[in-house]
Amino acid sequence: MAQKDFYAVLGVSASATADEIKKQYRRLAKQYHPDTNKGDAKSADRFKEISEAYNVLGDAEKRKQYDEMRRLGAFDPFTRSRPGGARPGAGSAGRAQTGGARVEDIDIGGFGGLGDLFSSMFGGGARGPRPSGPEKGQSVETTLEVPFRVAVLGGKVPIELEVNEECGTCGGSGAAKGARLQTCPECSGRGTISFGQGSFAVNRPCPLCLGKGQVPTEKCAACNGAGASRSHKKVLITVPEGIESGSKIRLKGQGGRGVRGGPNGDILITFQVREDAEWERDGLDLIVRAPVNIAQATLGSRISVVTLDEKRVTITLPKGTPSGKRFRVRGQGITKDKQKGDLLVEIQVVVPETLTAEQEKLMKQFAAAGGLEY
Ligand SMILES: [Zn+2]
Ligand SMILES: [Zn+2]
Repeated sequence: MAQKDFYAVLGVSASATADEIKKQYRRLAKQYHPDTNKGDAKSADRFKEISEAYNVLGDAEKRKQYDEMRRLGAFDPFTRSRPGGARPGAGSAGRAQTGGARVEDIDIGGFGGLGDLFSSMFGGGARGPRPSGPEKGQSVETTLEVPFRVAVLGGKVPIELEVNEECGTCGGSGAAKGARLQTCPECSGRGTISFGQGSFAVNRPCPLCLGKGQVPTEKCAACNGAGASRSHKKVLITVPEGIESGSKIRLKGQGGRGVRGGPNGDILITFQVREDAEWERDGLDLIVRAPVNIAQATLGSRISVVTLDEKRVTITLPKGTPSGKRFRVRGQGITKDKQKGDLLVEIQVVVPETLTAEQEKLMKQFAAAGGLEY
């Protein structure tokens, strides 16, 4: 069963000439031929895949049909993704990544799903009308960038998402008030239409009735008969303490409204932690840099450091503390799953760029006392 884009399988563009396709096929076939890769199951699979793709793309007539199918969107489910989507709400502490988080439909619910196209692609199996019972609402996935401090301490970040929801005016039927539903003239009520032929017969949801098998005598004006509308949803995200880049949470039932009484979809958030100029983390330990002057480092001193949650801790530097030395403050690190990390204060000895006349005189005396040249 082919599940892949044949052009991608061969690594050629969709506009490649027949000659280019042939050359590329020969190159790959040679590379993955079972005779030169004895016992290598991966190569054998790849060889099969390449042959399958070339069987179609190498034949002008089959390629034409295949291109037509691609054009009609048969491959959408595998490339589906929409730019934009999550936006931080007003006064947000978070920022959607790269000016608009990536939002992917991970469950396209009742609205024109094309997910099982491939199962019918080569078998030609017919699909009946789309189910009319309750369906789960749309689930959306997004990446949310949070400041370092919020990631460590937890907090709330408002975001705004775009979700597909059942049209509130017509309740998803797509029919105007008082309109009747009639058998769809495009698909004769099957909900799918076939195109292509032979090994390429493929069923896709009927574009007129969107797979429902019925169309209203008059369309709902609010959704133009689609039964769904795109809406903005504001959600206050609770960021758990101690998250890292890549941490995920699922907000069950916070996605798109369920269809015909079905459960709501979910929101899936992947966190991205913004870097901080001052703070760093290493596992559950927090690292902060504390600048001290040469006299403090040389003579020893007590310095005060403000923790991420704004507590003040005092650290005693012994005489002759070198730059880069770390002091551990127990239990002032990141809390996660009832474990607590430490705070590591890294000393940075700062060399003064300018000195007063008095300081310069003293520095010279200091050097002379040590027999140093300057
Ligand atoms: Zn409507
Ligand atoms: Zn139809």
